[in-house]
Amino acid sequence: MRRRRSIKILATLGPGTSEEARIAELFEAGADVFRINMSHTPHDLLRTLHGRIRAVEERFARPIGILVDLQGPKLRVGEFADGKVDLEEGATFVLDASSKPGDVSRVHLPHPPVFKAAEAGHRILLDDGRIRLRIEHASAKRLECTVEIGGKLSDRKGISLPDTLLPFGAMTDKDRADLDAAVNLGVDWIALSFVQRPDDLAEARKMTRGRAYVMAKIEKPSAVERLDEIIEMADGLMVARGDLGVEMPLEAVPGAQKRITRACRHAGRPVVIATQMLESMISAPVPTRAEVSDVATAVFEGADAIMLSAESAVGEYPIEAVATMNRIAEKVETDPVFANVIHAQRTDPEPTGPDAISAAARTVAETLKLPAIVCYTSSGATGLRAARERPDRPIIALSPNMATARRLALVWGVHCVETEDARDETDMVDRACRIAYQEGFARPGQRIIVTAGVPFGTPGATNMLRIAFVGSDKLGEG
Ligand code: PGA
Ligand code: MN
Repeated sequence: MRRRRSIKILATLGPGTSEEARIAELFEAGADVFRINMSHTPHDLLRTLHGRIRAVEERFARPIGILVDLQGPKLRVGEFADGKVDLEEGATFVLDASSKPGDVSRVHLPHPPVFKAAEAGHRILLDDGRIRLRIEHASAKRLECTVEIGGKLSDRKGISLPDTLLPFGAMTDKDRADLDAAVNLGVDWIALSFVQRPDDLAEARKMTRGRAYVMAKIEKPSAVERLDEIIEMADGLMVARGDLGVEMPLEAVPGAQKRITRACRHAGRPVVIATQMLESMISAPVPTRAEVSDVATAVFEGADAIMLSAESAVGEYPIEAVATMNRIAEKVETDPVFANVIHAQRTDPEPTGPDAISAAARTVAETLKLPAIVCYTSSGATGLRAARERPDRPIIALSPNMATARRLALVWGVHCVETEDARDETDMVDRACRIAYQEGFARPGQRIIVTAGVPFGTPGATNMLRIAFVGSDKLGEG
């Protein structure tokens, strides 16, 4: 099974989409990577979801990425006796230190340092800024607030205090335990929330020890300011527009999104555009025109992936939401202006063997209109450099490591296949042709591009490029 688009789709799993049958439907509709949000997922459920995704992967014989999103030092309110309340403008609402279930007059705020740091007059934003409170009285265990903008507030919604200086680091004890559990299960990506500085990534890198890629979620203005250093330290970035749009003026977010996307493309780091992409599809089977335009913008910018959050986790139309993203991406990528827009941001290869070979592979494939670029990539590094070229031909990444194939599931334009390393040059060509044919990319009589590193079987830099003829005599074998 192959996709007819280059941008990838990330779908968050949740109560509406935890069953294996639903995960399979999401995959068939177009989800390439599944996100598990640790703000809402206990460890036994994490294990269950991981097992179900791997079962779906086996059934379709396609590598599927799993991204585990750590909660980070994100502040969240506690739970309500009835799951949610309706806050009315002008009412008094209290955040306190009691873990009793909340009601319309109060709720638990399970972050003791906030009581010390917050002062009367400071604003409190809830649920991605939809609800606004103003603190009237602050004490050691209680913040008494007036509701300035009301709305429905449900269990564990996010809270941010834009006027308050909060003394928090990047990872909490819960994050450390979650990361450990996720990496031990064998997930592919770990996303770190509320990264503020490059150092914030160091601990996660130390804990993962290369067993998973680490993604920095950009949701703080301070992270945008130190973007290049953060890109240097991370394996990928997420433009987390929900919290970013609370922490900075909404109108500053589109520019930041473009800058982050460009910087990531330039560095060859995967970048995910996230949050509210098809928000109205939580409760409607069709998106708004503005949402379609928002998704299209990410596709035109050449982002690696677009993400669904509540739309696929708790929405009424999760499958339709994935199918909608898939349709938009397919249409935009075949639009006559697409190539033009996406190539305007193409950057020169860096002076390394893999970059030079990847750039040459793109040029040859585009010049000869070849149906695919096949690259052997053991660690994934060459797959990433091939994708950085944003060729207008599909990339097939062949890796002996399933972990690499799964990680690259998030990367623009890359169709991953797990296969042994080539034994020699004949095997390299035959195997590439056979897989390109079997996976539905090339027909007998066509030619493809193959890149690899010699000597074979030893991980090392890509240093060769072949134009290979797909002969019908060799396509039947294993
Ligand atoms: P969250 O991250 O869903 O974990 O808050 C995404 C965002 O802030 O946009
Ligand atoms: Mn966030």
